[in-house]
Amino acid sequence: MFENLRYLVVGAGITGSVIAERIAAVLGERVLLIDKRPHTGGNCHSSIDPETGIETHMYGSHIFHTSIEKVWEYISRFSAFTSYRHKVLIRCGGKTFFMPINLKTLIDFFGRNFSPDQARELMAQERDAFTHPRNLEEKAISLIGRPLYETFIAGYTQKQWGRSPQDLPADIITRLPVRTNFNTDYFNDPHQGVPKDGYFTLFDRLLSHPKIEVRTGTDFRSIRDQVPASCLVVYTGMIDEYFDHRLGALDWRSLSFEWETLPTCDFQGTTVMNYGDVDVPFTRIHEFKHYHPERREPFELEKTVICREYPAQYVPGREAYYPVNNTRNQELLAGYQKLAKQNTSLLFCGRLGSYRYWDMDKAIESALDLFEREILPRAGKGSAK
Ligand code: UDP
Repeated sequence: MFENLRYLVVGAGITGSVIAERIAAVLGERVLLIDKRPHTGGNCHSSIDPETGIETHMYGSHIFHTSIEKVWEYISRFSAFTSYRHKVLIRCGGKTFFMPINLKTLIDFFGRNFSPDQARELMAQERDAFTHPRNLEEKAISLIGRPLYETFIAGYTQKQWGRSPQDLPADIITRLPVRTNFNTDYFNDPHQGVPKDGYFTLFDRLLSHPKIEVRTGTDFRSIRDQVPASCLVVYTGMIDEYFDHRLGALDWRSLSFEWETLPTCDFQGTTVMNYGDVDVPFTRIHEFKHYHPERREPFELEKTVICREYPAQYVPGREAYYPVNNTRNQELLAGYQKLAKQNTSLLFCGRLGSYRYWDMDKAIESALDLFEREILPRAGKGSAK
């Protein structure tokens, strides 16, 4: 299997799959893609629930959205996307509001009407107090003011990250738009949707090139001694784990999911309901049939599949979902990146390998860039299309 192997990609998530596809399609080289999980797709993996026919996202909801034209053009080669536009609601103190914060959220929360200008003014009241926000709490208050922060952000964030919003980097909160109009979409990107034929089909197509050999259920540690020294290894797993945590362990946040099939057509009327109160232990409930109203049979069935998402402490053996990007971890990461540079036949990328809080589109963009910047030149080739 390893004789004359020139390209090994570790991790068959979105980053590893894109890299493998590029190596096979552009370089025409054989590439071995391994993953310790029993499936490809990484955290984007989905499957059809045999009892209900509903497509379920095994690691929580994944909605494709991007403003990066190059990424949209690339991924559209492998899948059509539905016109699904993500809407999220949040339940706080027994009431339900639209999230991210928009004019309708303000009207429902304060119980009176606002014009867009009045909404802007209301939310900006504490902006001057935090011109240089030092953490997530200060940044959020500067954007939306204290009452909205306390209701919609403080509890959810505390649960999600297992630490105070005062101890979290400000940029996490800028993932969420704040609107002063009635647009209730979760994302701003022009391209949005879910794969028409499922994430599993998207990955099957991405990895269908005959030069790609996929081995799931294969842990890198069990094969690393057999990999030829001249083989380029593209590693999309956790960078600290690769180096056996020799500088210390990076902090990650994990999740656990509680699945249920219920004897009702519609449990919550939408795909994702967030729960902002700290005394509710989960952060959100996903109801997957709502991603595909066009699939009439499972959509109208008198059964539904839901999943409660519980944030969890990361310990080795669990899945690492979110990097905790504070100063300690950034310094540790820099140390590991220095170690990585010493080995010229090793590249780290992806959410885990780069220790970045990336959406799917950013992961694709960075995989395409890495291929162009690092892999093509090594192969003595010019730019790829
Ligand atoms: N967030 C929040 N309330 C919400 C939704 C999100 O406070 O109802 C905060 C929380 O800190 C979270 C961050 O916004 O970590 C980013 O949310 P996003 O939905 O982008 O998280 P993801 O879907 O990546 O888990």
